[in-house]
Amino acid sequence: MVIEEEHSWLQELPKVELHVHLEGSMSVDTVRALSDRHGADPTKVWPNGWPEAFSFDGFPDFAQQFFFGLSLLRSGQDLVTIIEDLAVTVASQNVRYAEVTTTAYTHFLDRGERSGMSQEEYRDGLNEGRRRAAEHGVELGWVIDIPRDLEIPDQTVTIDYLEGPNTPDGLVAIGLGGYEVGFPAAPYAEHFARAQAIGLHSVPHAGETEGAESVRSAIVDLGAERIGHGVRCLEDPELVKMIVDSGVMLEVCPTSNLLLGVVEEMEAHALPALQEAGVRTCLNTDDPGWFATDLVTELGIASDVLGIDRTGHLAMQQGAVAASFASQELKTSLLAELATHPI
Ligand SMILES: [Zn+2]
Repeated sequence: MVIEEEHSWLQELPKVELHVHLEGSMSVDTVRALSDRHGADPTKVWPNGWPEAFSFDGFPDFAQQFFFGLSLLRSGQDLVTIIEDLAVTVASQNVRYAEVTTTAYTHFLDRGERSGMSQEEYRDGLNEGRRRAAEHGVELGWVIDIPRDLEIPDQTVTIDYLEGPNTPDGLVAIGLGGYEVGFPAAPYAEHFARAQAIGLHSVPHAGETEGAESVRSAIVDLGAERIGHGVRCLEDPELVKMIVDSGVMLEVCPTSNLLLGVVEEMEAHALPALQEAGVRTCLNTDDPGWFATDLVTELGIASDVLGIDRTGHLAMQQGAVAASFASQELKTSLLAELATHPI
């Protein structure tokens, strides 16, 4: 564990988070409350009753539990509930700005016991949640991602929605999420080109469950400005050089990588080697509810296990602010605050 003094310094450091999934932010308590709200049956996923904390055996097992949680998001009000829960949690850690990924496609889809949400209800839920987040002191930007293992490239549900009249306030980017293996990025090039043509930034996941080729394709085919994870780029030194030269930032999520088996032990995490190679990196929680983590915990792991000192943390926050799609006004104010933050 991080010593107490270090923990309070990390806690007080003004922070931004660029890689956190709204639908992955639900804690056991929130999933349970939503399950009760809708009279759902959790025993098909957890036959022995509610767990103390979620645990997983690899990505497919994680996905099964994740989709149960997702099936409980049936109305705009459910979205407001989880956005406000997330906002309260991140605000308590002095996170000032968060870019939150949400998967519109899964809410529009008819799925078993629930019918799909309308675009208007989804938009209104996000707008109301974002308004409440601001009251808690956190500005939210939205990333809406294509779930590569659900929305095949021939479908255009997400990109059609993004081009339409019902997008939420604060929408900044398009993402590409889901299980990489067997679902390459290149077939989504047209979707990303359309999104970029309407001013959205490109922040796909890559190099998590697949290797270097997936990261290269995210940059070459999708015009990635930041990459979710990307930690497996180290398998290819030429690619590492391309990432450094292009200034693409990797959104690193240590606990997520450990729990989903991307790394076997935290000591072997790629973060120190990425920084040594000159790759821009920032720290994130990915799915904080499901992984029972928060941003201060992730920063603490980086301090404790991965050799990041206070100067390194400060530099990572400054880099994350610069690589964010927050308003210039907010960026300037956060950078000014970080510049005078005591080390
Ligand atoms: Zn992610």
